[in-house]
Amino acid sequence: MLDFGTGANMFSSPPMTEARPQLLDRLQRPLRELRISVTDRCNFRCSYCMPEDVYDEGYRFTRRAEILRFEEITRLARLAVQRLGVRKLRLTGGEPLTRRELPALIQMLAPIDGLQDLALTTNGSLLAFQADALARAGLRRATVSLDALDAPTFAKLSGGRGDVAEVLRGIEAAQAAGLSPVKINCVVQRGVNEHAVRALAERFRGRGVVVRFIEFMDVGTRNAWQPDSVVGADEICAMLEGLGTLERLPATHHGEVAQRYAYADGQGAVGVIAAGPRPCCGDCTRARLSADGRLLNCLFAEHGTDLRAPMRDGVGDDALVAAIERAWGARGDRYSEQRAERWSRDGRRRLEMYQVGG
Ligand code: SAM
Ligand code: SF4
Ligand code: SF4
Repeated sequence: MLDFGTGANMFSSPPMTEARPQLLDRLQRPLRELRISVTDRCNFRCSYCMPEDVYDEGYRFTRRAEILRFEEITRLARLAVQRLGVRKLRLTGGEPLTRRELPALIQMLAPIDGLQDLALTTNGSLLAFQADALARAGLRRATVSLDALDAPTFAKLSGGRGDVAEVLRGIEAAQAAGLSPVKINCVVQRGVNEHAVRALAERFRGRGVVVRFIEFMDVGTRNAWQPDSVVGADEICAMLEGLGTLERLPATHHGEVAQRYAYADGQGAVGVIAAGPRPCCGDCTRARLSADGRLLNCLFAEHGTDLRAPMRDGVGDDALVAAIERAWGARGDRYSEQRAERWSRDGRRRLEMYQVGG
């Protein structure tokens, strides 16, 4: 039986302290986390994110000149942390490890005064080679996306491009490099990889790796999302029954998206991230920076604020801070809470997951 009481506060992200006055949006939510997409390219073609029939050889990704340079990313990150209250940075993509010299960017971001957490989300395929360099550069934690443990399902889900053994080596390398706790994200789709839920939980139980199961989300417009392909959080929890008593853990910080559970016997933790019907928009303190320099207020954003053009036009820091303040101050996004309403207004152009960075 799952026990939803409170338990040990283990395997959590570092708590974020809140010392300074905060920039608040229209719903009084502070800006705490910036997710930075360092590229919109990827070496996988996950069906739920970049289906290969759409993202084929002829697909035109953002040109190199349009992608933010490391100096530009660092400048925005520094302003976000030192002047706007951001405490946590997460590098994502596309596949961030396909961006050349990523450790050099991490080396530039890690020393930012006031930064409390620096993390990476990756598909893990190139992690075995890079984990050491990333950790030495100052990366603190890594989240690896892994949707199945069996080779055929994994290969299919990655669009025929991924090798699960390589990803598992990447996870081991990340642990060995001290990027802990390593977290695993598994997007659960009905009829596709439900069998992976239990297999992943069993494999990583007691190994210091937190597995987080994510409801399939209707991000973007190209992933053939259907309401009945979603496996709900309660169902996911039910699949874990019998692995040990799970105790619900309290949130470690404002805006935490995962419901976390610890095994009562001390063998680790798992998380479930619900897209709905338990939306967490009220606590959402994350902004996203797209690879081409747009600031996005929500994972489901349709538009962003272009920060690249003013930077390349030579504006000063105050003007950039003011632009971010205006964008966040006007933020009223609460997509998950409004999803039912939005389903009936389909056809609107939303940004795709690989552009927004997950
Ligand atoms: N390429 C990296 C990776 O896969 O970890 C980072 C970028 S990816 C867009 C970030 C996260 O978004 C991944 O964990 C991925 O599984 C998740 N994701 C992508 N499309 C999704 C969808 N439709 N629903 C839920 N999660 C999704
Ligand atoms: Fe690439 Fe990550 Fe999207 Fe998969 S989820 S296609 S690995 S960006
Ligand atoms: Fe945040 Fe948007 Fe997700 Fe709501 S839907 S939790 S506002 S990113």
